[in-house]
Amino acid sequence: MVVSKEEIHKIIENYDPKKITIATVCSHSALQTFYGARQEGFKTLGIAIGSIPKFYDAFPKAKPDEFLVLNNYAEILDKADELIKKNVILIPNGSFVEYMGAEIFRDKLKIPTFGNRKVLSWESDRNKQREWLEGGGVRMPAVIKHPRDIKNPVIVKYFGAKGGRGFFVAKNKEEFYNKIGSTGQKFTMQEYVLGTRYYPQFFASPFKRDNAMQTKSGSVQLMSIDRRDETNIDEMYKMGTIEDMRKQGFVPSFVVTGNVPVVLRESLLPEIFDFAEKTCDKAKELFDGMIGPFCLEGVYTDQLKFYVFEISGRIVAGTNPFISGSPYSALTFDKQMSTGRRIAEEIRYAISINQLKEVIS
Ligand code: ATP
Repeated sequence: MVVSKEEIHKIIENYDPKKITIATVCSHSALQTFYGARQEGFKTLGIAIGSIPKFYDAFPKAKPDEFLVLNNYAEILDKADELIKKNVILIPNGSFVEYMGAEIFRDKLKIPTFGNRKVLSWESDRNKQREWLEGGGVRMPAVIKHPRDIKNPVIVKYFGAKGGRGFFVAKNKEEFYNKIGSTGQKFTMQEYVLGTRYYPQFFASPFKRDNAMQTKSGSVQLMSIDRRDETNIDEMYKMGTIEDMRKQGFVPSFVVTGNVPVVLRESLLPEIFDFAEKTCDKAKELFDGMIGPFCLEGVYTDQLKFYVFEISGRIVAGTNPFISGSPYSALTFDKQMSTGRRIAEEIRYAISINQLKEVIS
């Protein structure tokens, strides 16, 4: 059972809005989260697993005011009272949710958290993602149900595949059977969309903010767009064809090592804004709405159609190149606005209109 909103709202009734501490796990997008929270005047707390990351000394503006050092992620559950005493609001990031486990985060972590934790059920299951996005009118790559239906290249994703491992591409049925082997692992298969990848990062607010595009349930802004550097697939072409490489024992992988800022042709912006709006509207219908950052991960074809292959319902590491803002946020805000700072700004705004409950669960 998802930790109930009511339970969390009771906790924040006792919070002193002047003493809120923004906390997250020291990984992923934590540096911009701490820096952004500080820029918005909040205290910060870094949850470190094992030891305090030494390199944080090199980033004094982002180093949190205090650390909580734990042996593992599960220990966070035991620290709920201590964190609540400090008026903590947790910011979920990819490492935090992934290593703690989405279910434990959603069902057991009784600490006020920014955003709607129900999104965790919808984004961690590829079928539910499709129900949400396709159901809302967002274009996605077609699902191929059976290998006999493979007519064009497909990407095969094993269940539980994460961080770009556990995928393979097959151009036809024969290649599929050669590569699938006999492990019996469950998989899903979708049309391989050939084109250029873009990862637009949005921020959904339940409030009708006046520097945002209005949706049925609030408003949405485009914060930034990145493209991920994926090893080893991105550089494989330097050594020959993928088939040559495979014969030599190299297996192509999509493991993310970094992020590159990109912008879209302006003529392509209407469609991604339309998809963002559809994502927010459908989220409202399915699970009380999208609150905070989300990223539509997709590919543009040469027909200039955007296909979304995945959604992340929280801050993504692709926002890291934009700590001083992006070409888009420069047109939205009067100050340098990262997604990390935008989260803090939303909390600050919600407090100012006495609506903190709207953005916390
Ligand atoms: P994450 O690290 O975001 O959790 P993941 O491991 O769940 O990722 P996906 O994001 O679904 O995996 O896909 C990994 C990579 O595979 C993408 O970045 C992209 O390069 C490629 N990819 C996925 N689906 C498709 C598709 N339908 N067509 C073309 N490329 C795809």
